[in-house]
Amino acid sequence: IGCSKFLRENLLTFMTIIGVVSGTLLGWGLRVSGYEWTRREVMYFQYPGELFLRMLKCLIVPLLVSSIVSAIGSLDLSLSGKVGLRAIIYYMTTTVCAVMLGIALVTTIKPGKDPEAFKQPNATKVITKDTLTSDTLLDLIRNVFPENIAQATIASYRTRLTYDPNDTKAFKGQLETYKIEGDYQSGSNVLGLVCFSVVLGITLGKMGEQSRPLQNFFHALSEAMMIITGWVIWLSPLGVFFLITAKIMEIDSFSELVGRLGLYFMTVLLGLFIHGFGTLSILFILATKKLPCRYIAKMGQVMATAFGTASSSATMPITIGCCDEMGLDPRITRFVIPIGATINMDGTALYEAVAAIFIAQLRKIEMSFGKIIAVSVTATAASIGAAGIPQAGLVTMVMVLDTVNLPAEDVSIILAVDWLLDRFRTTINVVCDALGAIIVASLSQGDIEKTRAVQNDREAAP
Ligand code: ASP
Repeated sequence: IGCSKFLRENLLTFMTIIGVVSGTLLGWGLRVSGYEWTRREVMYFQYPGELFLRMLKCLIVPLLVSSIVSAIGSLDLSLSGKVGLRAIIYYMTTTVCAVMLGIALVTTIKPGKDPEAFKQPNATKVITKDTLTSDTLLDLIRNVFPENIAQATIASYRTRLTYDPNDTKAFKGQLETYKIEGDYQSGSNVLGLVCFSVVLGITLGKMGEQSRPLQNFFHALSEAMMIITGWVIWLSPLGVFFLITAKIMEIDSFSELVGRLGLYFMTVLLGLFIHGFGTLSILFILATKKLPCRYIAKMGQVMATAFGTASSSATMPITIGCCDEMGLDPRITRFVIPIGATINMDGTALYEAVAAIFIAQLRKIEMSFGKIIAVSVTATAASIGAAGIPQAGLVTMVMVLDTVNLPAEDVSIILAVDWLLDRFRTTINVVCDALGAIIVASLSQGDIEKTRAVQNDREAAP
């Protein structure tokens, strides 16, 4: 009886995990069936999964903005300051731990110690110059301050360097003459939206009664988004099933997973595992005095969706739903989870550090202490700047590579296994967000009760 109750309560989680496993098996079966699948046929397989992903993505912007605004607006101002500070300390601590772990592993295992295996006989030198680290860092900060909030929902700012031999005022690059330009690239500027929502939430909290209608609006909007999430979530077993089947069908080759990139792949995986189940668990026990196993067991649905979609933003509605089910204070989860899904990506930070040093090992670049520090700082910034979408870490990696003087096209070395690593790192990213919400909620419990007592006293006073 106990077993069937457990099954019933966790039915959706089991179905989603079965979706991941059977999608992998079917994809594999279709690959080895001997039939040459065309891109169009793979697209048909992917189509139901794509619809699921579109439904989740559609919820991101309204849910993110309304959750943050209503959560901060409804918390006492000093309390939201304390909650925010705790969340930021948690994000920074875990990200720094992840980067340090990645660096320790990659420098001891040395997956790039055999550069000969990576020599390409007829490699042609492509002369391209991507943006420098400074450009990417400046863009990161520019994006925190969107100039147009409507535009921020669809595009973020990026600097480009274009080759222009005729422009005398152009920036002098090392190889050629480049011109610095900027434009807006598709994909919402989530960082800007988060910043705007935090400021709006604080303002509404300060305004008091006058802001009540707006606060009610954002609160109702966030609740409505969560109800829709509750419906969409039932499609997750099918959604992840088709996404994974199509992904396995479209991969060119699996040989790199066990071949030249095998050791690099295993280094990142080991790091993610130690971070997810070691470092985070220790922090959890220290902060909450409870064991994390029970909570992690309840995150099956979140982990399976993160693995299937490779996107922490798309998984965000489900992460919030999972925290609600665990009985956490919604004002804390709706504040901490959307911000965490945007800036707290431990898996990504660890992977950026490992990948950059791995490539440096292949290129026989000496890693001085200064360079290791530069990699740590840029890997942290790159994880903050990476959007919560599939393989976003690969894009921000350019900045980390630049700190060790490696060209952007070296990213292509690790491309073959990135689709799978992305799924593992996204899973750790969302687990870290959810554990963070529990930790912050537990640390803030005393303050919440104190504020409630003060409010009750005020109300009781004649
Ligand atoms: N896919 C990751 C995420 O959404 C980001 C990345 O590391 O590429 O969390």
